[in-house]
Amino acid sequence: AAELRDVSRVHGSGSAMVRALDGVSLAFPAGSWTAVMGPSGSGKSTLLHCAAGLERVTGGQVFLAGQEITGAPDAVLTRLRRKKIGFVFQSFNLMGSLTAEQNVALPLKLAGVRVPRGDVRAVLEAVGLGDRLRHRPRELSGGQQQRVAIARAMVTRPAVLFADEPTGALDSASARTVLSLLRRMVDEEGQAIAMVTHDPAAAARADTVVFLSDGRLVDRLDRPTAAQVAERLARLEAAPC
Ligand code: ATP
Ligand code: MG
Repeated sequence: AAELRDVSRVHGSGSAMVRALDGVSLAFPAGSWTAVMGPSGSGKSTLLHCAAGLERVTGGQVFLAGQEITGAPDAVLTRLRRKKIGFVFQSFNLMGSLTAEQNVALPLKLAGVRVPRGDVRAVLEAVGLGDRLRHRPRELSGGQQQRVAIARAMVTRPAVLFADEPTGALDSASARTVLSLLRRMVDEEGQAIAMVTHDPAAAARADTVVFLSDGRLVDRLDRPTAAQVAERLARLEAAPC
């Protein structure tokens, strides 16, 4: 459903040049959940942004929903994103002036989809926020804001859901609720999920876990246990750059 082929992403130039991604090839297939892990600054958010067409690559090719998007005009990218993807940002990016319910309804509006109000509420109820429909982001806790962001990314039933640390602000009970919802999206609706996480327990709910170090993909585990993920991550974080 989304794919990177030999992708590089360079920021800045000269002595300030940072190779955020360096020759990364990775597919996020339909019906599969991939977790992306790695030390801080290893390029995880950049990888997600590039795969979702939010950030341009400086080398290689990107495919989204069966279409090459490398070099596609902004208008084409925007339309494709609204139809095919959901994105949970590391910093939530909620609209401060809108209520929880309005934030979740926004992508449907932008995509021109008519969806009954009840469906928007059902998604908020699924993340445990049925009693916070009228609250604005500043009236919600960090974990509640994160759950609104998740509901907003899920409401259009996107072909690919990108999620950058979707459980980072959640207590363990809400995290389990959210991870079970994601698992169901993949198993019952065949959506693709690309999720960045630091939490080995969250990564162990995915089908595949890939590891980034210094902008390069350095390892891949299929159906690992949380202990295997934690062990691999610890070795990466201990390795000198
Ligand atoms: P974290 O776990 O802290 O969120 P990350 O793995 O998501 O880290 P990225 O945000 O992808 O890391 O950043 C990868 C590298 O690219 C970092 O070294 C960062 O400093 C650099 N970088 C990211 N965005 C920019 C930018 N706009 N300009 C310059 N450098 C950037
Ligand atoms: Mg990041």
